[in-house]
Amino acid sequence: MAVNTGKLLRVNLSSCKVSTEPVPGSYAEDFIGGRAYGIRYLYEELAPGTDPLGEKNKLLLLTGPLAGTMAQGVSRWMVCTKSPLTGAFARSVCGADFGAWLKFTGYEIIIIEGKAEKPVYLHLTSEGCRILDARDIWGKDTKETQAWLNQNHGQNTRTACIGPAGENLVKYAAVVSDRRTAGRCGTGAVMGSKNLKAIAITAQRKMYLADPEAFDKLAREQVSIIRNNKGFQNHKEWGTTSTQDITNSIGIYPVRNFRYGQQTDYEKLSGKAYRKFRTGEIGCYSCPARCGKVHTVNSGLYAGAHSEGPEYESIWAFTGPIESNSIEASIAADQLCDDLGLDTISTGSSIGFAYELYEKGLLKKSDTDGLELVYGRHEPMIALINKIGRREGIGNLLAEGTMRAAASIGKGAEIAAIHVKGLELPAYEPRGAKSQGYNYATASIGASHCYGYAAQDVFGAPVPRPTDRFSEENADIVIFNQDGAAWKETGILCAFSGGWGWVPGLCGKMLAAARGIDVLADNDYLKKVGERMFNLERAFNVREGFDRKQDTLPRRMLTEPLHTRKAKGEGQIVSHQDDFLDKYYRLRGWTQAGIPTVDKLKALGLDFVLKDMTGKKQP
Ligand code: SF4
Repeated sequence: MAVNTGKLLRVNLSSCKVSTEPVPGSYAEDFIGGRAYGIRYLYEELAPGTDPLGEKNKLLLLTGPLAGTMAQGVSRWMVCTKSPLTGAFARSVCGADFGAWLKFTGYEIIIIEGKAEKPVYLHLTSEGCRILDARDIWGKDTKETQAWLNQNHGQNTRTACIGPAGENLVKYAAVVSDRRTAGRCGTGAVMGSKNLKAIAITAQRKMYLADPEAFDKLAREQVSIIRNNKGFQNHKEWGTTSTQDITNSIGIYPVRNFRYGQQTDYEKLSGKAYRKFRTGEIGCYSCPARCGKVHTVNSGLYAGAHSEGPEYESIWAFTGPIESNSIEASIAADQLCDDLGLDTISTGSSIGFAYELYEKGLLKKSDTDGLELVYGRHEPMIALINKIGRREGIGNLLAEGTMRAAASIGKGAEIAAIHVKGLELPAYEPRGAKSQGYNYATASIGASHCYGYAAQDVFGAPVPRPTDRFSEENADIVIFNQDGAAWKETGILCAFSGGWGWVPGLCGKMLAAARGIDVLADNDYLKKVGERMFNLERAFNVREGFDRKQDTLPRRMLTEPLHTRKAKGEGQIVSHQDDFLDKYYRLRGWTQAGIPTVDKLKALGLDFVLKDMTGKKQP
């Protein structure tokens, strides 16, 4: 059986050169695919100190060995690059069909280099890849852009594109496909900096599997397991549109820029309340969950607003930070962010930052273009989203992200900048879910909930063991979650599908049959790959100058007690961060400065990294 490693498409926009490369067999065995291919290539090819928005940064679009097959919930794709928001490794995951379409062409990776002289887009088919003039779509929103490309290249075309936010280099601009986004870390700004508006793929279905017969059997087995799984059925019914019922009830729904853990009258935002606005469902390629719940507003100020979403993170982003209970406004805001191509989490958080500074008098009406940023008022939030996407007025400052905006405002504004390494926090309060919080502090890309989701804290999941969500002793759990999430993003599995009962036992066998590499069927080997990926990402960041100093939660979590209103956890604070880091680094096999040790790197087969880690000192 021949090993199937996937192919790489390299496009240099400066020289207009397009080429195809095989992926080395050692990469497939050691890194499997997806996010691990992303960090492997980026580590190899990106010189330290590269300007994220400069011509020398590279933009990688990746899918995995399982994409485009009949297997369910595994056709995700992602963007990897160096983030303009954090200066660290960036990975941003997305759904819809684009990952499958990329795989149909035989490619698993596109590496985009250089910068086009004028706006262009790529059109990829089985015949090859062309660099085409994008002046007709530059300035259009993501919906209009995709409609234009479908009109010009046919309905069998799937696109990843940027909107005005990416063109305007908003530091948290997203890459959008259909109505899904690769939202985090500002990957859309990197795409905009290259004058690249879109990548359109026109393709016919085709599978690339080393052992199609074995794979077919495994995929059938997967379908029967998933169909009977309760977690799947619940996700199919609700998506994540009811997660706020849980997070509010246990006091970890961040409100008023992470000062409260529960929203007043949060029942008004319940999953059932959102259900009343539901008008449809959308899913990703070959996933029966169809968890993208479509919402439409029929009357009032936001009549006509229509969005695939908001899902949990976006529900929070447009309610909690400004303490608004308007479902209608959250739907309108979500639609607007998708159209402009903005990450909803960083957008909502940046707006929450502005509201707090307005309350404290650090931003005045004259600074906010006349907007009155008063809690509960959602009209200014909609105005701010438009301004951020177009970098107009106050939007130009907020488009830089909270870390840079706070530094530019000064006068103590830093306390309101709720980020890790420059990436704004998602919708889980660290003081009430401390393993989740410490994942934010130590994740390679900054504060990402997907990098090591602490289901133990949030849902009481007792795997690998139950946790006390207020304890700061759970370094082993944070590592377990991070390494587990890592290897699943080689496939690329959807984070939700990983919880539907098929992964232990079956997923590895599927990866082995897809690649033709037997060792991938071994679960312990997969865990090792997860650890290898995480360490390589850490080494990338260390090479960029990161160490222990940046592994910190925002000052607010370390100095201000949480207020939870009626929920448990009142007065909680993060008070043992140093002890946690000591233990976490020890378990990771890193120095107390947070640098992977020689022994650890050798044990993981990352010898090529050693030369970059030597000479890194203890703090
Ligand atoms: S569970 Fe939802 S997000 Fe995940 S693959 Fe299925 S439809 Fe897409």
